[in-house]
Amino acid sequence: MSVAGKHVVISGGGSGVGAELAAQFAGQGARVTILGRRMEPLEEVSAATKALPLTCDVTDRAAVEAALTEAAAKNGPVAIALANAGAAPSKPFDRMSAEDFGAALSVNLAGVFNLWQAALPGMKEAGWGRMIAIASTAGLKGYPYVSGYCAAKHGVIGLTRALSLELARTGITVNSICPGFIETPLLQRSVDNIVAKTGMTPEKAEKSLRASNPQGRFIQPAEVAEAALWLASEGAGSVNGSALPISGGEI
Ligand code: NAP
Repeated sequence: MSVAGKHVVISGGGSGVGAELAAQFAGQGARVTILGRRMEPLEEVSAATKALPLTCDVTDRAAVEAALTEAAAKNGPVAIALANAGAAPSKPFDRMSAEDFGAALSVNLAGVFNLWQAALPGMKEAGWGRMIAIASTAGLKGYPYVSGYCAAKHGVIGLTRALSLELARTGITVNSICPGFIETPLLQRSVDNIVAKTGMTPEKAEKSLRASNPQGRFIQPAEVAEAALWLASEGAGSVNGSALPISGGEI
């Protein structure tokens, strides 16, 4: 892989997929900055990876700008913007408030827009860049009780496709990764939610989620991080505007 020495900014870098992204990019010699709202998990990841931890809410455009300015001062211009922060709270559509819907769009879609747009000037100047979003199979198909999340993730795929064309001659590629259920704290919260709402046992709730994957298992964070490393590499320079499923064949 060819990310050695390159500066990668990873939103949501304090847990789950983001923590694994930080570990794998650091392992390949990249200079890593991780963003999240809570410093404690960021510091834990930083201790293991030497990543620069910065608190930042990706829904706050000014905060994202400020974080990237600080990150660039310490780690150089951002070459790879990895929009990974996300949240998947679930509710039936008829009980969702306008605020619930707005919050889902804000973190999962506007958060990607904020990070990518703030990283763009440095990439344009360098004539090279990689915009990568951790979207979801929920960007390619529907799931019940997470309509705001699905709408946002479909939006990320649309943003990816449009921006990839806009930037096609700049040396910058734009791609999304679409995993099925991944074994992370976010998945654990979904399981806890099903247990609380339905009275199912945790084992049964997990089994019901695993069943959506034809391979009958959860995706591992490392499998997502390896795909991101490849998309960030020189060899993937012609891969642009894609929505890459990592789902065991679910889609
Ligand atoms: P996770 O462990 O809950 O990680 C999400 C991270 O995002 C947390 O570190 C959280 O840190 C950060 N975050 C949340 N809201 C934020 C905000 N407003 N600003 C900045 N950071 C924020 O979940 P994960 O499973 O690793 O999820 C990573 C990505 O994969 C998400 O985009 C998710 O939609 C996607 N995905 C997950 C699954 C799955 O089954 N787990 C499947 C497909 C796609 P703070 O709380 O400290 O801010």
